Amino acid sequence: MPSKQCKQCRERIHARATKCPHCKCWQSWSGVIPRTMEITTMALIVLIAAAVAYVPVGHYLQDTFYADTHEIVRWQVYKHYGERSKRESYTIGPEVITPTNYWSAKNLAKDISGEVSNSNASAILRCIYSRWSECDGITIYAQGDTVRIDKPAGMPSLAAEYVTTALKYDKHAPIYFMTVAPGGWTVKLNQHQS
Ligand SMILES: [Zn+2]
Repeated sequence: MPSKQCKQCRERIHARATKCPHCKCWQSWSGVIPRTMEITTMALIVLIAAAVAYVPVGHYLQDTFYADTHEIVRWQVYKHYGERSKRESYTIGPEVITPTNYWSAKNLAKDISGEVSNSNASAILRCIYSRWSECDGITIYAQGDTVRIDKPAGMPSLAAEYVTTALKYDKHAPIYFMTVAPGGWTVKLNQHQS
């Protein structure tokens, strides 16, 4: 019969004994409670710690995300996760970032930045922000006091959404009104502010 020594009284006991028959000591880490109860207790402590840390860690990640992400990209990510929360009136703000979605939010921000730098999203915005004076490579059509910009063929969807997000949420955008269609944007500029 394979045997081992009791952790407490050093008597030889069965190799798989969980409790010493001589001194009644549990053959566990503490010796006071059985090993299964020790494991359950540890699991509970880890769970409670995670629950307690969830909100402060969330705040920390919200601050980190805010500091690391370009303003318009940030709005676009907030909008994405706000809408996904499926509440009737979704919020667009830092609180949509949680420990659960932080890494996918970071990846989405990276994807948006990548698509923006590989498309003419910035050129379209420069054209609008410059009040149609810097529009090299962008085709615009004047229709009365509004201007239509066709979405360039093959423009990736995150890049197009970036343009819409900038025009919608940037309070410095010189926009009086704007409509978005699958084919592009129709924009009326506000009055010059001097
Ligand atoms: Zn013993």
